[in-house]
Amino acid sequence: MYDYLIVGSGLFGATFAHLARKQGKRCLVIDKRPHAGGNIYCQDVEGIRVHQYGAHIFHTSNRRVWDFVNSLVEFNRYTNSPVARYGKSLYNLPFNMNTFYQMWGVTTPQEAMNKIEEQRQEVLKRMQSEGIAQPRNLEEQALLLIGSDIYERLIKGYTEKQWGRKCTDLPAFIIKRLPVRFVYDNNYFNDRYQGIPIGGYNRLIEALLKGVEVRLNTDYFSHRDEFNALAKEVVFTGKIDEFYDYRFGNLEYRTVRFEHEVLDMPNYQGNAVVNYTEAEVPYTRIIEHKHFESFGEEVYQNPKTVVSKEYSTEWQSGMEPYYPVNDERNSLLYQQYKQLADQESHVIFGGRLAEYKYYDMAPIVERVMRMFEEN
Ligand code: FAD
Repeated sequence: MYDYLIVGSGLFGATFAHLARKQGKRCLVIDKRPHAGGNIYCQDVEGIRVHQYGAHIFHTSNRRVWDFVNSLVEFNRYTNSPVARYGKSLYNLPFNMNTFYQMWGVTTPQEAMNKIEEQRQEVLKRMQSEGIAQPRNLEEQALLLIGSDIYERLIKGYTEKQWGRKCTDLPAFIIKRLPVRFVYDNNYFNDRYQGIPIGGYNRLIEALLKGVEVRLNTDYFSHRDEFNALAKEVVFTGKIDEFYDYRFGNLEYRTVRFEHEVLDMPNYQGNAVVNYTEAEVPYTRIIEHKHFESFGEEVYQNPKTVVSKEYSTEWQSGMEPYYPVNDERNSLLYQQYKQLADQESHVIFGGRLAEYKYYDMAPIVERVMRMFEEN
């Protein structure tokens, strides 16, 4: 008999198991995949840790979360600073003084502000002359916020590939604001702490699951009653609609298809993340995994490299569900499932699939830490 049967060995399930074990609880973790770690799992290819389910960068301003994960595995100094490629031009992200210099040759914050304001005013005038009072779609909203150059080169094509729809067909509210920095700072995140576990994310998962019984290749739904009988409580981190046999219908997701490739060269693009912002290039990003963990001359110690092209794709049954679609239909459907979940007395629903919510890694850890503090 276990105290907890934990369905899913992703970051939620593994953190839960770790903290429960610390309190002397007996846990059994099951996962249908052949490996633990859920979406943060990395596969070793040519001595390079490949983020199999998408590039993951840990970032947080919560000191307690940072101290907690660093007590399990030390983190490196990786700082996310993606580059956008449009045709043959390269631009630093997020939008900052480096980007504005590359776009317009301006060198002072005031010049950059003037340039953006000039372009915004042109858009405003055009919309007023056409009798448009409020931005009617994402394109108009973005143009009003940032002007035409940045929109056309860095936002339009990328956003259309991400959503599989024209920006003129996407609602304006998707872009509420566009952060711009009038300083020379390419650090993508504003958080105080960021990095990658030294030795990779599998080390973090191994540390979390140390001393916990884990069964892989084990689908909860294949022997549901037998598994339920093993524990006092179930912690479920799989899909909530599947838990209820899709009785109200399927929740929808967007997914990403990855094309991983080993290249016979030490350094392909000189950066971990390059966004391709033209509509004509079918993929959204190329990730070069070694740059997450090796810096400077270390890059050349391995003569090979691994890159992944990312294609944003409509989700169909059987594909990996990545991003919840937070439109009205799906939000209402989730609420129906949540009402059932709230009535369960022996099941805890947690994590990105069970809560049908996009979560970064740090908020997942924080959420589980809070659950244990409250009890
Ligand atoms: P998961 O990692 O999905 O784990 C759920 C586990 O449950 C899986 O292992 C699954 O196999 C298992 N499972 C499901 N159903 C069953 C079943 N029936 N039986 C047994 N097992 C089952 N966060 C960041 O902080 N930084 C980033 O840079 C970042 N990049 C991301 C990029 C992408 C493409 C995506 C999709 C997410 C990214 N995230 C990032 C978010 C991060 O992946 C999540 O916060 C984290 O994975 C959530 O953990 P989880 O345990 O909730 O879910």
